[in-house]
Amino acid sequence: MSASIFSFIGSLFSSSASAENKMTYPNQRTDEEWRAVLSPEQFRIIRQKGTEPPGSGTYDKHYPSTGVYNCAACDAPLYKADTKFKSGCGWPAYFDSIPGAVTRHVDRTFGMERTEIVCSNCGGHLGHVFKGEGYPTPTDERHCVNSVSLKFSEDESGAKGDKQESKV
Ligand SMILES: [Zn+2]
Repeated sequence: MSASIFSFIGSLFSSSASAENKMTYPNQRTDEEWRAVLSPEQFRIIRQKGTEPPGSGTYDKHYPSTGVYNCAACDAPLYKADTKFKSGCGWPAYFDSIPGAVTRHVDRTFGMERTEIVCSNCGGHLGHVFKGEGYPTPTDERHCVNSVSLKFSEDESGAKGDKQESKV
């Protein structure tokens, strides 16, 4: 019995490791294909892990009561409007994503260890997650996301937290 539990755990680790190392996502495209559908600024941030200047983003001070923020590259629903909060940091901030919609990676650039978040469907760079900052939210996490990586929609029908594999 314990052997089967170990192999189950092992398969969990190996699947997440391959997603991180090989960057395999359901919606996989080449750089040329992404360039064809993204603006230069979107490509710089979403595919090359850039960052928009603080306070510049379309959704920095955008607080609708309902709706969903989709991936600007592949349209996968990422964050619901009711998880967005005022962080004052200069970028859109959410305390939680739609379940399974974002994938976390360790990011060691700039001599820091941060948690990068990407779209689970296309691997597009969204921003970073910061924990334990003391914001009065249910998770005490701040998903700090570039507005450029997002596209707001008032239609929440696609944002029920379902796995997106079936949409490919
Ligand atoms: Zn995406």
